[in-house]
Amino acid sequence: MPENATSFQSLGLSEPLLKTIAEQNYTQPYPIQQAAIPAILKGNDVLGIAKTGSGKTASFVLPILESFQKMPPAKNRHITALVLVPTRELAVQIGSVFQIFSERLPRKVKTLAVFGGVSINPQMIALQNVEILVATPGRLLELLSYKALSLAETRILVLDEADKMLNMGFADEMRDIFFLLPKKRQSILFSATLGDEVDKINKDQLKSPVRIEIEEEEQNLDLIKQTGYFVDPDRKGPLLRYLIKSQQMKQVLVFVSATRTADNLVEKLKKNGIDAMAMHSKKSQGARTEALNKFKSGKLTVLVATDLASRGIDIQFLPYVINFELPRSPKDYVHRIGRTGRAENPGEAISLICPEDVHHFKIIQKKMGKKVEMMESYDIVLQGY
Ligand code: AMP
Repeated sequence: MPENATSFQSLGLSEPLLKTIAEQNYTQPYPIQQAAIPAILKGNDVLGIAKTGSGKTASFVLPILESFQKMPPAKNRHITALVLVPTRELAVQIGSVFQIFSERLPRKVKTLAVFGGVSINPQMIALQNVEILVATPGRLLELLSYKALSLAETRILVLDEADKMLNMGFADEMRDIFFLLPKKRQSILFSATLGDEVDKINKDQLKSPVRIEIEEEEQNLDLIKQTGYFVDPDRKGPLLRYLIKSQQMKQVLVFVSATRTADNLVEKLKKNGIDAMAMHSKKSQGARTEALNKFKSGKLTVLVATDLASRGIDIQFLPYVINFELPRSPKDYVHRIGRTGRAENPGEAISLICPEDVHHFKIIQKKMGKKVEMMESYDIVLQGY
């Protein structure tokens, strides 16, 4: 640890949380945590410009759980802390981070994640005694309309990935929710970018926020070995299976651009004896969660995903990412390959490049500022794959 490094001990968190932090192998707080944790503990509003991967989740989960330690329990079905998120995956992920860190706390805090696309009744029942709620905007309003909960005594509001919530068309829902919240509260807003719309929410909803801006991490890319294979379209499927088998990949995330491609790929991988599942927006929430859990726990070799479904998926130490199809935007490419080579573990990103992709892949490399090593695949014998 560098000499001037801040430790978690110095940020004002108590022993039970520090123990869990150590168990999670968080040795040192990330910059966003160094800035946000003390500010949130002091009761300040916070505006954080930061992306997934910056450690933003723990930067609000930890101080919120800490401040609950001194709070009396709320009335039943009165939510004390509300975290609004754009997607189901992010809701589930944040819910589980709250759960992990609350395990050792002397004052128990019940957390629940709610989202659309699944039946509402179990969520209404589960809301009993919940103090921290993580929710997507649409489902939250639905639950409110059934009087399954109240926001009248909410003290803390977190808006996570606010720009994405707006991009996904949740502006009206967010406004309706703001209207139901007490004016006197602590507000925390995270967004990858600060456009006009997000800034308007910042100005309308936050009070003299502490502003934290985290530059995009670049070091991650250096940890990733990037390779491209020139391949004809009809040899792509066999090449994918050949790479998985010959390199004995145990855990690989494969990206495609369409849900149909995902389903077809999975079918062919399975026929070849490779355990695979698809994750895309046409799959039920149950199927998505199952696929993700199996993949995360190492019981599934291949997860085939579209960009949208993969948002908010947090997988540590993922050794391989394969771009079966390139994403349209260079940003998405970096986002995809960023799933590997995290936390100082080396990873490998492989892209399958057909003749029509060559130009686009050059643009991606230029934008990324890195050249990818290209290999020929024409002399690889793919019979039997
Ligand atoms: P997030 O940006 O919240 O999605 O976090 C990105 C990843 O970093 C997650 O896998 C966290 O578990 C991990 N993480 C967060 N904070 C730390 C830390 N201080 N040290 C090590 N890993 C961390």
